[in-house]
Amino acid sequence: LEHQPDSDRYCSPSGQIEDACCLYETIEEATDGVFRPLDHLVKTPFFRYFKVDLFEECPFWYEDTFCMNRDCGVETEEDESKIPEKWRAQALSSLNDVQEPNDSSHPACFATVSDFCYTPDEASPTGVYVDLSRNPERFTGYSGPSAQRVWDTIYKENCFGVADFFEASGRVHSGVADVTQVPPSMGLLMGAGGPLGAGQPGLEPDFDIDVDGENDMCVEKRVYYKLISGLHSSISMHICSEWLNQETGEWGPNLDCFINKLSQYPERIQNIYFLHAVLTRAIARARPLLERYDTSVGDASADALTRQYMRDIMDQVNSCGDTFQEGTIFEGGRTKQILKEEFKAHFRNVSRIMDCVGCDKCRLWGKVQVSGIGTALKILFGLDSDDFKQPNTLQRSEVVALFNTFHRISESINNIEVFRELYDKSKTKV
Ligand code: FAD
Repeated sequence: LEHQPDSDRYCSPSGQIEDACCLYETIEEATDGVFRPLDHLVKTPFFRYFKVDLFEECPFWYEDTFCMNRDCGVETEEDESKIPEKWRAQALSSLNDVQEPNDSSHPACFATVSDFCYTPDEASPTGVYVDLSRNPERFTGYSGPSAQRVWDTIYKENCFGVADFFEASGRVHSGVADVTQVPPSMGLLMGAGGPLGAGQPGLEPDFDIDVDGENDMCVEKRVYYKLISGLHSSISMHICSEWLNQETGEWGPNLDCFINKLSQYPERIQNIYFLHAVLTRAIARARPLLERYDTSVGDASADALTRQYMRDIMDQVNSCGDTFQEGTIFEGGRTKQILKEEFKAHFRNVSRIMDCVGCDKCRLWGKVQVSGIGTALKILFGLDSDDFKQPNTLQRSEVVALFNTFHRISESINNIEVFRELYDKSKTKV
């Protein structure tokens, strides 16, 4: 092994998860119970089709998104007859309850005030259906300056300049921020979902964050950072678990990859657990809505199975107790409300940064998972209990993204155990 981690650096977290309200062990137990039904659920017709626009231009810089690598390709569903009838173009064009676009100039985007991200709209004429089960998230070879730039830009969204600025200067009137008082470099941040200017010289936030450090952050900023870092870690986990050995042409786990990208940095692994705790809580909170959500596709036996898997997942999720306390975040006056709006605007920007990912497969899974986390944030911070009585509160794509993301993150937690075993075997060989 290139880097032999010493045993106490090797990652096997235990005890309380910081900023969540459960133990690492609780999340491991939850994953044991929830993974099987989740793994079945994401293969059902309702949950495996995701509509997405993979050809949206990067709004922040010029990006040549044409990827030469074979493993970057996405197989889209060209044959409409395979897609459940009610989602085919004709059926969707007759829908009369499509939401009006509001604060976005992004053609495929329809966002309401409670949305933390731009989820592709099912009725969008430019989107295509993708069968996620035929396009697994795994090693694609995408790396180098393009990938680095996307990650750098996403982490820079963690700078909450406006809230800090108002906190320091006290320039808040009746709960409404006086935008004219905002320094020019921060003004762009305020446009909910508007381009931040990330990646453009001169428009980047005035201060940087230490990507793996946590500086002196308030809980909201730490939560934001941990969600992004947890997603990043989970993507790395899938790359390392399904790695292509270029010499043999075989796919399989790569222990060196796991050590170099993940286990050398215990907090990266811990952030996967944190993200899992947030998703678990969101699903538990939205149970009244999710239980009654219409997941039928017109095939009685498939529909019954889908409902059964949903029930099994909800039962497991409920048995964990409260894994995260959303009520303690964004509470405490006007500055926190500004922080919440910023948090939302930044997370929406992350969903648009996904259009800058220079590999179709990575962009697809990036969009699914950012939508899934955005849906969890909407459930936790954007909706109240009455909203869960209305089945139309969440779009189908949000529900699909939420459960597919939960599946991805749960699989990452399972894979930690796979790598622990591989690591132990490699030690006995040395
Ligand atoms: P990167 O993973 O690119 O990380 C960049 C820097 O971020 C690191 O140097 C480190 O300082 C910091 N960092 C890394 N991990 C964390 C963390 N968890 N928390 C905090 N900071 C961290 N490649 C594939 O093969 N398959 C995919 O499906 C895939 N999907 C992607 C999806 C997106 C949205 C993006 C942006 C990239 C994707 N990639 C994918 C590329 C992959 O994520 C890496 O960029 C690539 O493997 C190069 O890895 P790296 O080790 O150089 O560091």
